[in-house]
Amino acid sequence: MKILFACQNNNSNQPPKIVFGAGLTSKMMQEIQQADVVEISKKLAQKGIPTDFKDNKVIAWCCDKTVGILEELNNRFGQKLALPSAIEVENFERLNVENTNILSTCNMLPTKLRKNSAERTPPRGIFFNSLYNFENIDKIADDDYVIGLSSTPHFLNFSLHEVIHSAHEYRLLDRLGAKTLARELDLYKNQKQVTEYQQKYREKVLKICAYAETDPFEAIACDMSRVIADSLDKKTLLPTRNPFIGTPYEKLSFWQRVNIPNCSDDERPLQEILRRFWNGKFD
Ligand SMILES: [Zn+2]
Repeated sequence: MKILFACQNNNSNQPPKIVFGAGLTSKMMQEIQQADVVEISKKLAQKGIPTDFKDNKVIAWCCDKTVGILEELNNRFGQKLALPSAIEVENFERLNVENTNILSTCNMLPTKLRKNSAERTPPRGIFFNSLYNFENIDKIADDDYVIGLSSTPHFLNFSLHEVIHSAHEYRLLDRLGAKTLARELDLYKNQKQVTEYQQKYREKVLKICAYAETDPFEAIACDMSRVIADSLDKKTLLPTRNPFIGTPYEKLSFWQRVNIPNCSDDERPLQEILRRFWNGKFD
């Protein structure tokens, strides 16, 4: 079964008219240039994440920071966000992906992902496309934001987006089990299901960004990356506060949960739609 959720990229040659800055400072660019990819891989391996960065310093540095953000959210704010199962830089022409121009993807289910290999790639691995020049990561982030492929111009959006897919999937596996989750994911390969989702939720999820109307999983990844990115310290890139307070991703007490008003689909606010998606309720 092949289910891929990807963070698409704009291949247009037209530069965006607005420059957002995207959070990448000259000091960070210097750190990236000096990054020791082997050391970063060793560090992530100790956290249970095998990696193959193909010596890509930008991706290695950004993934190290992104995993650090998830750990901080878990350790400091009591979240239970699973870390990705693997991170790899790969030429997407070697993968069974429908569109080799996509920037990145998270493998949501055990999949025969590699061409010329019968081996199933385990779920929750993150792949970045080596066909892209990630040296322009701040421009990629700005471009994606301008055309609605993301809800934040933060340069870490590309890696945050994928680790959120992985963490969301882990949560859903825990709540729904592998069979039900596979069925839900399979449903969204079907255009009829996608159309139904769009008819039902388009107006509300478009408040996140255009890409959020792809399916419920993209709505979560797009929204949550902005929520996290907005909380990051500009220098340390660590959250300065619990970003989930007052959001659909907040851990609610029993009484808070039972007091959520029971709305019809039409009346349900975006906050509650996303809370249901985050918790595995997609109907
Ligand atoms: Zn995605």
